[in-house]
Amino acid sequence: MSIHIQNVSKKFGSFQALQDVSLHIQSGELVALLGPSGSGKTSLLRVIAGLETSDVGEILFDGQSMTERHPKERNVGFVFQHYALFRHMTVFDNVAYGLKVRPRKTRPPKAEIKNKVMELLQLVKLENFAERYPTQLSGGQRQRVALARALAVEPKVLLLDEPFGALDAKVRKELRRWLRKLHDDFHITSIFVTHDQEEALDVADRIVVMNNGKIEQIGSPDEVYTNPKSPFVYDFLGNVNLFKGRLHNGKLMHGEFSIDVPNTEAHTEDHAVGYVRPHDIQIEKTNIAGTVPAKVSHIHLLGPIVQIELRREDTEEFLEAELPKEQFINLQLAIGDHVFVKPKQLKVFIPEDFSI
Ligand code: ATP
Repeated sequence: MSIHIQNVSKKFGSFQALQDVSLHIQSGELVALLGPSGSGKTSLLRVIAGLETSDVGEILFDGQSMTERHPKERNVGFVFQHYALFRHMTVFDNVAYGLKVRPRKTRPPKAEIKNKVMELLQLVKLENFAERYPTQLSGGQRQRVALARALAVEPKVLLLDEPFGALDAKVRKELRRWLRKLHDDFHITSIFVTHDQEEALDVADRIVVMNNGKIEQIGSPDEVYTNPKSPFVYDFLGNVNLFKGRLHNGKLMHGEFSIDVPNTEAHTEDHAVGYVRPHDIQIEKTNIAGTVPAKVSHIHLLGPIVQIELRREDTEEFLEAELPKEQFINLQLAIGDHVFVKPKQLKVFIPEDFSI
């Protein structure tokens, strides 16, 4: 089922929670809505589900308007952050619920419901927990029950609102891998809300970055990470180093520092900022033209990647670099070493429009 979100706006009182949001999600895609708290992610999910009506705009499923459709008629499965399981029902009954409450005409026979529920419990690896109650399960197990329950009614669209938000880091990681696998097996068009960039980068086919009720950028994880369209997206999607300087004749300059910035020859800006990801910081032991002198202040060994914290000797600002372990060993770096750094790649933003 494809989803078209067309020019959706939503106000709560005088607060604009969603501002002219348009988005097309293809059938079978797994899309992450990523953004800080209050950016409108949950509001958008609720509008898609029909739990909230938008002031302006339309939601279409496979080209059909859902605006007048009740949530129950939208064929949507919803998983919330806080399990929302029925506490007085067993795991089996929780998963069977959506099928049991169907009108008589569309309700499957008892034996069929049983088979289906057991199949789903096998899928979420909880077949031996059917008779337990939610209070007798761990957080991760409860969330797997919530997913099985959402899948029981064979939704055409699966909406997940911070599904793993309440779980600890290890369980989160396990469940998000598992969600990806589940999605690859079932191909249900799915949208999940998260404020965790790592989670979005790890799981989604496409990421929709939201800020202040608007979409900042839409793209594959690789696109939004390596080619952010705005300083906000740069900041939100990972660690970043800022190189402030003057933009002139296609170069960003500050003191000794000078780096070519292609396609900016026509711009002169006194206050430009270069954004550089840690893995795009080049470290040299000898002085080469255009580099910044810095001192190694910390070294963190993170398996195959080594994270190096440096302090610029010209501005006293801290920088973070990341090197593959092999390169780190070749460089023979140690804390206190004087080195020279230069961005291998950077994107320049200027204060006015904050994009070039
Ligand atoms: P979080 O990650 O904290 O859940 P979010 O990005 O999902 O944030 P929303 O829950 O969509 O953000 O909320 C967007 C804004 O709209 C927030 O400032 C919130 O306070 C406001 N808001 C949401 N629902 C309502 C409501 N029913 N009444 C009034 N304001 C609301």
